[in-house]
Amino acid sequence: MPALEGRRQAAYLAEKGTCLLYRYLTLELDRAERIVLQNNSFVALVPFWAIWPFEVMILPREHGGDIANLGTDQKRDLADAMTRLSVRYDNLFQTAFPYTMGLHQQPTEGKNRPEWHWHIHYLPPLLRSWSVKKFMVGYEMLAMPQRDLTPEACAERLWELSEIHYLESTK
Ligand SMILES: [Zn+2]
Ligand SMILES: [Zn+2]
Repeated sequence: MPALEGRRQAAYLAEKGTCLLYRYLTLELDRAERIVLQNNSFVALVPFWAIWPFEVMILPREHGGDIANLGTDQKRDLADAMTRLSVRYDNLFQTAFPYTMGLHQQPTEGKNRPEWHWHIHYLPPLLRSWSVKKFMVGYEMLAMPQRDLTPEACAERLWELSEIHYLESTK
C-alpha cells in the first residue's frame, strides 16, 4: 500500500505539477463535509474512500515527506490532533475505542522524494457500539467492500463529539 501510494503521488506530481494529497486536503477543506478536527498544522478527516466505520486520516497542512522533519510547533500540534481524536473516539461509544493506526511516509533509502506527503491512517473496527463490530465478510472479502455508514455521516458524528473524555465529564 505505501508503494502504491508513492506511485500514485509520483504520477500526480508528474502530470499536474502539484502534490496529490495537498490538493486533496484543499478540496476537503473547501467542502467541509468530512472534517473531524483541525489545528494550525494538521487536519483530521474521514476520506471519501473510507471503508472502515469512523476511518480517519490526519494530514499535515504543510507539504513534506518525512515526519522526522517536523518543527517544534508541528510536533506540539500533532500531539494535540492525536490526543483530541483519541478522546473523541473514546466518547463515540463511551469505551476505550480500539483502532489500528499507521503512518505512511517516504521511503527511507535516502533518495529525494518530492511527491510524498506523509500522513496517518486510523482504521477502527467498531460500527455501532462497544460490542457491535464491523466484519468484512462474504461479498466484501470476495468482491468489494460495502459501506455501513457514509464518510460524511461518520465525520459529522466525530466532529460533534466533546473533547472532554466521558470518564472525566461524569465527575
Ligand atoms: Zn504535499
Ligand atoms: Zn497512506
